[in-house]
Amino acid sequence: MKNIVLFGPPGVGKGTQAAFLKDLYKLTHISTGDVFRNNIKNNTPLGILAKSYMDKGNLVPDEVTINMLEEEVNKFPNTNGFIFDGFPRTTSQAKALDLFLNAKNTPIKAMIALDVPEDILVKRILNRGLTSNRPDDQDESRIRHRFNEYQTKTAILIDYYTAQNKFYSVNGVGSLEEITKRLIKVFEAF
Ligand code: AMP
Repeated sequence: MKNIVLFGPPGVGKGTQAAFLKDLYKLTHISTGDVFRNNIKNNTPLGILAKSYMDKGNLVPDEVTINMLEEEVNKFPNTNGFIFDGFPRTTSQAKALDLFLNAKNTPIKAMIALDVPEDILVKRILNRGLTSNRPDDQDESRIRHRFNEYQTKTAILIDYYTAQNKFYSVNGVGSLEEITKRLIKVFEAF
């Protein structure tokens, strides 16, 4: 099993690149943001709860997110592996993921971070907001708040995976194809 965490701040291109990589390596892509948005679309209790956090750019509480992620993973018992996109985002989530996957004997192989300067990201997200229909993409102060959540709660995970010798970083500025090629190089290395 090749379980990968695709990592980086909002707007860095995780979802776009995961879509290429999952086809190439026959992996299952789980984006916790997408799962939440599907729940919002279907007006489920989980969606209503998640929306109250997401619209403001806040993280959804760990317990809710971890339970949801584990349910998603359990839907694919025969997969070659997972690309996790947008999860984990806190140390509690990373620890829960390790416990959960280690119990299945399918640990995380690597965390690959996409690296892009913040000013480029704000422009990318505002641009995406023109068509994404996402309230959290349409307002610069909410976008800045999401970066703040990333800096204060999520960026620390670089240390968490570095300590396990699983951290890789890829330059996320360039054409889609160039960035995919850089990711493939890292994928082929383990
Ligand atoms: P994303 O699509 O990954 O940018 O996520 C959009 C929003 O969904 C985030 O700003 C959070 O409100 C919520 N979200 C997604 N994944 C997580 C997570 N792992 N932990 C907490 N909140 C999350």
